[in-house]
Amino acid sequence: MLDLTGKNALVTGIANNRSIAWGIAQQLHKAGANLGITYLPDERGKMEKKVAELVEPLTPSLFVPCNVQNDQQIQSTFELIRDKWDKLDILIHCLAFANKEDLTGDFSKTSRSGFNQALEISTYSLIQISGAAKPLMTQGGSIVTLTYLGGVRVVPNYNVMGVAKAALEMSVRYLATELGPQNIRVNAISAGPIRTLASSAVGGILDMIHHVEEVAPLRRTVTQLEVGNTAAFLCSDLASGITGQTLYVDAGYEIMGM
Ligand code: NAD
Repeated sequence: MLDLTGKNALVTGIANNRSIAWGIAQQLHKAGANLGITYLPDERGKMEKKVAELVEPLTPSLFVPCNVQNDQQIQSTFELIRDKWDKLDILIHCLAFANKEDLTGDFSKTSRSGFNQALEISTYSLIQISGAAKPLMTQGGSIVTLTYLGGVRVVPNYNVMGVAKAALEMSVRYLATELGPQNIRVNAISAGPIRTLASSAVGGILDMIHHVEEVAPLRRTVTQLEVGNTAAFLCSDLASGITGQTLYVDAGYEIMGM
């Protein structure tokens, strides 16, 4: 049975009720996990208020600001976990960012700063927070990140984010190798296209969704809760033999050649 009772889970990447991380947090909670939630702080505190209201029914025992471009905030987040929880079991990395102008048009026009920012936030952050989680996962653990097919094949307009996801998927393999002896598993979920704040920045996202609805074996795309179910499975003992993998939760789209 899928049971996460007694497991402490840190979930990053909730911005609103469309976020994939929100789907994941709900399913982890349903399976009995104790949640810690991070949010991306803004100057006026609007995000803090919005996310706090949204996650309240899941009764998180930690709620912390964590901009992954801010070393101090990352450090504080994991110090708080060390002080308040006896151990960390689950880490959900569900965040990404690229400038809107780098998610459309010619890939060769990607700016140096846009490239660096996309890779720093979307890829390097997994490496950094996994390193911070490692000493706290004293009884083993599960780290899950989110990727997309555009990191393996060319998807129009995905551009720099495709490069970030390719690097993310390779980072999963290196992290899985390093952390495996400590019984920490690291996996990626490659989700089908879903309408969210982040995906709306990708040029032609609605066309991508319609294409998947026409072509995917299940003739539809997936929901945040379906991705959440797979994340809960990967974080549970049912997945104890799985690490270093990219699991497709995409209604089967990935297998199609045409
Ligand atoms: P979303 O906009 O709901 O989530 C993106 C999150 O990233 C937000 O919560 C945002 O606050 C956070 N974020 C951005 N910059 C940050 C920073 N500097 N520090 C901390 N957090 C930061 O969109 P989503 O679609 O739910 O995206 C979640 C993940 O799923 C991303 O990695 C995305 O690439 C991936 N994904 C999305 C789709 C899709 O179609 N929506 C498909 C496959 C993979």
